[in-house]
Amino acid sequence: MTSTHLAPEREVAAPLGDEEFLALKHDVDAWVRGAGEDFAEQIESTGVVPPELFQELKAHGFLGLAAPKRLGGRGIPFSQYLELMEIFSRSHASIRMLVHVINGTWRAMDDFATDAQRDQIVKPSVAGDVLVAFTLTEATAGTGADIRTTVRREGDTYYLNGEKHLITFGVNCDYWLLAARLEGTRGHEGTVALLVPNSGLPGAEVVDDSATMGVRGTDHAILRFTEVPVPVANRLGEEGDGLAVALGGFLLPSRISVAMSCVGLAERAQELAIDYATRRETFGKKLADRQAIQFYLAENYADIAAAKALVLQAAKAFETGAPDAAVLSSASKMIAVDMLSRVTDKALQVHGGQGYWKRNAIERVYRDARAQRFEEGTNEIQKLIVGRAVITGDVSN
Ligand SMILES: Cc1cc2nc3c(=O)[nH]c(=O)nc-3n(C[C@H](O)[C@H](O)[C@H](O)COP(=O)(O)OP(=O)(O)OC[C@H]3O[C@@H](n4cnc5c(N)ncnc54)[C@H](O)[C@@H]3O)c2cc1C
Repeated sequence: MTSTHLAPEREVAAPLGDEEFLALKHDVDAWVRGAGEDFAEQIESTGVVPPELFQELKAHGFLGLAAPKRLGGRGIPFSQYLELMEIFSRSHASIRMLVHVINGTWRAMDDFATDAQRDQIVKPSVAGDVLVAFTLTEATAGTGADIRTTVRREGDTYYLNGEKHLITFGVNCDYWLLAARLEGTRGHEGTVALLVPNSGLPGAEVVDDSATMGVRGTDHAILRFTEVPVPVANRLGEEGDGLAVALGGFLLPSRISVAMSCVGLAERAQELAIDYATRRETFGKKLADRQAIQFYLAENYADIAAAKALVLQAAKAFETGAPDAAVLSSASKMIAVDMLSRVTDKALQVHGGQGYWKRNAIERVYRDARAQRFEEGTNEIQKLIVGRAVITGDVSN
């Protein structure tokens, strides 16, 4: 592999026709409600994602929906893809995570990959043959220009030192798409993005850290690197491009995708609450006939619809390259995660004490929902971005 930066042309995908798209949505919905639910139960009872799930998602073509055809994907435009993401998100969080991450990681790599990297890693990741873990967060530094993991270059080799944590798929992935910095640099200067093979490199320690509150089954890792040799040819882009790879064109659509995940999961919570309210009777009346419960369900309905409208606006802005796309992306995630917290809380409340028991799906939905408040940046960070734009009047930053 060479390190020449060969940015491909950005193609604008043609939307699928109404009939084809409706059929695809129907397929996804049927899978989520059928096989997806069986996998969800299996994951919750065993605590692991079975390898068959990955194979099943791959066989259905669900891992390459958003990537362009030239990378082997189906080339579905972003806003249509989000409608599919909405449906996947009604499923178990680990299923949602696999679909979201694999349909998105190519974006971080593609603009910076050499032809060789594209053939050896990007295209196989879209095909579901190679799993790439996004490896940015550190325990001792803020996420972004603060990162402390370093590389020292000697000839054609970087020597990698540092620690990453909370890394989804970090245990079982094939590559860590890892952000580090050249020794002695600070801030945005000298950052590098490396495709580090998870293949027992000397000095690389992988700690399985998968005991999470929700998103059960997906593996998460703490990674420690001590003088790990990584070929310079495994660098994406140039020295100095590290944060552009990790945060640049990738994060903007990814935040909108997470925001849509919130919409989908909230819809699932609402569906469970309506179902329970129409079944459970107290003092001779169905819960659904009580105004207090109707108010919860009405508030949820309005909350979900409002968030979804903003998510779709952000998606359109991204698709058309509108100058306010980045601000709308952060704003949509901000609104959607708060909406999800409210909706899942009320949906659980509708279930009464039953909702606290693992036998009811709302218990898992409630736990899974909490993770969304961290993924692709917390609301505190989204508010910094939106606040800065609002104060300066520059929505294009
Ligand atoms: C389920 C899950 C999966 C994840 N998967 C990955 C992954 O695959 N790869 C990866 O790299 N990371 C991953 N993460 C990490 C995630 O991106 C971070 O948790 C998130 O970005 C927040 O960073 P932090 O945990 O370091 O929190 P911290 O930075 O320690 O922040 C703690 C609190 O302080 C606030 N805060 C921090 N800095 C500021 C500031 N400047 N101004 C105001 N408030 C601030 C935060 O909003 C937060 O509320 C995952 C996290 C979760 C929960």
